[in-house]
Amino acid sequence: MNKDPLQLDLSQSAFSVAIIPDTHIHDRLTQSLHESQIRWIVQNQKHYAIKQVIHLGDIVHDPQDRSQWIMAQEAASLLQHQGLTIAYTAGNHNLSDWHEGVPFHAFKDDSRRDNEPYLFFVQEIARLNNESLTYFSENGWNSYHFVTYHEQSILILMLDYAAGNATFAWAKKVLQANRCLPTIIATHVLIAHEEPSTPSYFEYPEARRIWDELIEPFDQVFLAIGGHYFGQGRLIQKNKTGKDVLCLVTNYQHWNRYGEGMMNLMVIDNIKHKLQWRSFSPFLLNQESPENSANAPILKNPLNHFDYPLFLK
Ligand SMILES: [Zn+2]
Repeated sequence: MNKDPLQLDLSQSAFSVAIIPDTHIHDRLTQSLHESQIRWIVQNQKHYAIKQVIHLGDIVHDPQDRSQWIMAQEAASLLQHQGLTIAYTAGNHNLSDWHEGVPFHAFKDDSRRDNEPYLFFVQEIARLNNESLTYFSENGWNSYHFVTYHEQSILILMLDYAAGNATFAWAKKVLQANRCLPTIIATHVLIAHEEPSTPSYFEYPEARRIWDELIEPFDQVFLAIGGHYFGQGRLIQKNKTGKDVLCLVTNYQHWNRYGEGMMNLMVIDNIKHKLQWRSFSPFLLNQESPENSANAPILKNPLNHFDYPLFLK
């Protein structure tokens, strides 16, 4: 009987990456949901060998509201006190000139103002991520990070959702220079689906370009994750060498009470050859009577709770 609340198989070789999907709606209304996610990560860092945190973008709702960035930074600092690092990518809600009615991809990353609050925010986070280095692209909207646990190292590439030509050229160089490192690509907009029950697909041309130019030709990329679209979905596609690549979308902001801070944990175990994906709400796990909520504290359906075969280099 597995006593772990997330029903995870945790061996010596397993380590975890915590994933925080879009926080902008609940973060605007209350900091407590985002903070509950961060506190859960801190409290469970040892148990799950959490080595890295990823935020999938749309960090704040109103980028000109400085207080929202400060709240996000305060939450991140709780991780940094524990030596845990967090990597961000920007969402459409994080651009000063974007608003409802403007196509969300209207501004490419190489044509934006250089005084965007997001750029100052991620630079400050990188400065505080003192245990590891953040390698930014020249325009500051993209970054990559190394994660090592025991014998296993991986690369995490945080890509802008409206990457321009310069970013694609930069990302190709990063991937070419790290051919031997299993790689995760995270970006705000990756795959979409019409409804949870329908297959996921690349709807957005820039996401399709990420597949065509950065995932399909680079066989070290085993996983790509996005947020933005409401719901959860997955797509498994073969890269140029015939290997499967797992592509995921995760976002709970449209659920009852903005998803109540639902997040994901991914356990990577290359000895047991599996990736375990779990979904849960730290806020609900802390409630005495979560039955008052329409959401379950731990999600068990196949898009939120699955194991996937993993054969990393
Ligand atoms: Zn978005």
